[in-house]
Amino acid sequence: MTFEYAPAPESRAIVDIKPSYGLFINGEFVDGNGTSFKTINPATEEVLAEVAEASDADVDEAVKAARRAYTRVWSRMSGAERAKYLYRIARIIQERGRELAVLESIDNGKPIKESRDVDVPIVAAHFFYYAGWADKLQYSGYGSTPLGVAGQVIPWNFPLLMLAWKIAPALACGNTVVLKPAETTPLTALLFAEICQQADLPPGVVNIVTGAGDTGRAIVSHPDVDKVAFTGSTEVGKAIARAVAGSDKKVTLELGGKAANIVFDDAPLDQAVEGIVNGIFFNQGHVCCAGSRLLVQESVADEVMSRLKRRMATLRVGDPLDKNTDVGAINSAEQLAKIRELSEIGESEGAERWSAPCDLPSNGYWFAPTVFTGVSQAHRIAREEIFGPVLSVLTFRTPSEAIEKANNTPFGLSAGVWTDKGSRILSMANRLRAGVVWANTFNKFDPTSPFGGYKESGYGREGGRHGLEAYLKGTSPKGADA
Ligand code: NDP
Repeated sequence: MTFEYAPAPESRAIVDIKPSYGLFINGEFVDGNGTSFKTINPATEEVLAEVAEASDADVDEAVKAARRAYTRVWSRMSGAERAKYLYRIARIIQERGRELAVLESIDNGKPIKESRDVDVPIVAAHFFYYAGWADKLQYSGYGSTPLGVAGQVIPWNFPLLMLAWKIAPALACGNTVVLKPAETTPLTALLFAEICQQADLPPGVVNIVTGAGDTGRAIVSHPDVDKVAFTGSTEVGKAIARAVAGSDKKVTLELGGKAANIVFDDAPLDQAVEGIVNGIFFNQGHVCCAGSRLLVQESVADEVMSRLKRRMATLRVGDPLDKNTDVGAINSAEQLAKIRELSEIGESEGAERWSAPCDLPSNGYWFAPTVFTGVSQAHRIAREEIFGPVLSVLTFRTPSEAIEKANNTPFGLSAGVWTDKGSRILSMANRLRAGVVWANTFNKFDPTSPFGGYKESGYGREGGRHGLEAYLKGTSPKGADA
């Protein structure tokens, strides 16, 4: 039985969305070359603002500003001084947390309870964490010399969080940055630019250039960029790796995933069901490390499926600004089309589709939480990243079969294991080819913990001490990572 909830909308009065935004270069908002694009609210299709589209010349200006700030100010400043700015930014993020959360939900479509309770607190924590490293780099194991100008390109699924993952370690290490947010979610990055002004960050240390793929390409291929950091699709990641091959640029790529979430018959099933739901329906499944392949032991498969469907029927899909909402809007019409297409392919390949009964709003982009059973490893929905609220369920009998199926993917970003036995967790974690393995939990993030993938999920680590390596010149001394 589902209880009816009265609407509990978060007020959007706290945000002040301007009709148009320029580029943030050298500490100021500038017009750029005059072309622009619209950003919309995916829950309503309402146009939110007109945003400048950076050309090659604009990117060049931004890189020049970053280079000046690097040479004249930021790389000369002591780590303790840099830390003061990072702490100040972290505190302003906390102070303006509600504003950031509301704006993120409006521009991205994610539920306010996620932007408010997950994204924004981890963003602040990331700045606090790397502020703490700024004056201790000599103990990092990676040297203490910055690289120079970092060109950073981020996706739309966690706009502010990915910005924090990129900017906080770069600045702590003494680099300056040129960052491009995704075309569909530029607004919180532009609010972050205002926060940089509020924190009196020296001009040019952070530059935010908005635009689409061409702007991203101009950043990563700019000859005066020393370091490229990218999060997004494997396809674009490969193109970037090709574009920078043969140059001196240091690169980190955080790409796609198709994580196995493995449930053994001795797992506490109610907790496991919560973990399955969190693994795939958190953030509408727009999560690179989403637990999109459920591997469940055959003896408990029927029981898990019936509990899972019962739980899915209680998920509240709708207005991202309603505090009761569990699943918000799909970020764009393009992404919705991709989710629909792959789901139809799942059905036509013979898997059985079930969606939670729910009323979807008539405007905006929506997709009901969906599960496919009877999925085989050859099905496209078992192999490709759907990047939506769609779960593919496979079964296994033995731990070895689970490992074989879990590792049978070109990706290797994350995995989950649900079991009562600690020894089994350790043995599974050793054999799973995934950068992160969660045990009896899923989708847990902490700034102190490194995150990154194997194989087509990319290379390099973000977060923790390991995350410093990407922004420093030294290499890891032998044994430092042991
Ligand atoms: P992209 O990889 O295209 O986008 C990621 C970022 O890269 C965006 O800022 C994008 O700009 C930019 N970009 C696009 N082309 C280039 C280029 N040639 N050089 C440099 N930067 C570029 O992902 P999409 O948004 O198109 O999503 C496509 C699919 O990728 C999704 O359906 C999903 O499966 C997967 N994806 C995976 C993510 C992950 O974290 N693993 C995150 C996002 C998507 P812009 O968006 O403005 O065009």
